[in-house]
Amino acid sequence: MMDKLTAEGNDEHLAQINHHNSGWIEVIAGSMFSGKSEELIRRLRRARIARLKVQVFKPEIDVRFSKDHIVSHSEMRHESAAVRSAADILARVLPETEVVGIDEGQFFDTDLVAVVNELAGRGVRVIVAGLDQDYTGQPFGPMPQLLAVAEYITKTHAICVRCGQPANYSQRIVEVEGQVVVGASDSYEARCRSHFVPHADAPTKYE
Ligand SMILES: [Zn+2]
Repeated sequence: MMDKLTAEGNDEHLAQINHHNSGWIEVIAGSMFSGKSEELIRRLRRARIARLKVQVFKPEIDVRFSKDHIVSHSEMRHESAAVRSAADILARVLPETEVVGIDEGQFFDTDLVAVVNELAGRGVRVIVAGLDQDYTGQPFGPMPQLLAVAEYITKTHAICVRCGQPANYSQRIVEVEGQVVVGASDSYEARCRSHFVPHADAPTKYE
């Protein structure tokens, strides 16, 4: 009955069906500009309105906008602690914490999978946001394993800047070394499958 009344992925729906001491894992995955951090912040804010104890973490590598906040492209922000490794998250989660948010999950080591499983096993609701693919279209860091173990998955889409269709890829538009240019969102464009090329491509010209 409840399932018929509430949309799939609705977090209040999840909170209601999971009230009996068991935790779970939610993953919000998608390309750059797809609103992952925004969706994470939205869920964290609602958890706080519900007076749940919330802690938020992000990898130390990502301090581009702020050291102690996660910030979305649309300037939404939420307090967070920067940590060096997945194990640091486990060490810093307080016993009374009920919801743990993790942004930029793709930058963590593979221990993140064991860490979120451990937290969910303790009864914590864990929400991880991250890039599912790197700029070559390959699964990114621990994200594919997280998608496999998560109870609930939300795939977010950007809009292809070439054609306006839903975009599932982060197209790199400058030549640089390395899997990710941290904080260089002007080095990427959202592209659909037809307009994505798995190496650096020329930026889209706006007439
Ligand atoms: Zn396109």
